[in-house]
Amino acid sequence: MNLLAAWIALPVGAVVGSFAATAGLRWTQGRQAIVGRSRCDACDVRLGYAATVPILSYLHLGGACAGCRAPIHPGHLAGEAAGVGLAMASVLLLPIGPAILAAMLGMVLVAAAVADAVSRRLPDLLSIVAAVLGAALALQRGPAALLVGFVAAVTTGALLLVLRGIFAARTGDPKMGLGDVKLAMALALWTGAATPWMFVIAGLAGLVQLRMSKTADGRIAFGPALAAAGWSVGLALQAGVFGDLIP
Ligand SMILES: [Zn+2]
Repeated sequence: MNLLAAWIALPVGAVVGSFAATAGLRWTQGRQAIVGRSRCDACDVRLGYAATVPILSYLHLGGACAGCRAPIHPGHLAGEAAGVGLAMASVLLLPIGPAILAAMLGMVLVAAAVADAVSRRLPDLLSIVAAVLGAALALQRGPAALLVGFVAAVTTGALLLVLRGIFAARTGDPKMGLGDVKLAMALALWTGAATPWMFVIAGLAGLVQLRMSKTADGRIAFGPALAAAGWSVGLALQAGVFGDLIP
């Protein structure tokens, strides 16, 4: 049963991941993303259906638009690959109800991560939807888990705001955007008492990212690391990896 669901999740995950990445990219350009045919980001030419097959089209076209040869943003490929991975992991590890919720939350995070990577801004709407889905997933584990999620979210928000204050006082730069704080709070609703793991993993990923990327202002988009870490910890928690230790 789960294996069949995984085979269905593969193409569905790729298509929804593609849509999510496109929505995130278009948000950074101030364009609507929800309706309308696929278009090239650069020359705005309408794409035929053959050019919109996730992953395969990107590879076939060599990562460039067939019309104008402008490079296709790698966020499309990353979103499609992430969509496949998270949809398959969800149906393999969780019962179908929570699996659909977790995969939906993952897709919202794909859009948020792509938007943050491009513009270093996280759309509030996506964090709100992530919070609702995270709370629904916590409730699937029981009312106690949802309560712990609320406490974790409030604690996360308070700690990160204090941290921003300390950074700002010391260096004149809060280092962390308010968008990151809101997304972390949304994810903490789901990850509950396992939230420290989210910060350990996201922090390590952020350090690697900081080492590898030499940005002029020494800052990075933290959203993708935060989203990936929060979703992974949430999925592990939902799948019972933490056992009876954490509700
Ligand atoms: Zn083009």
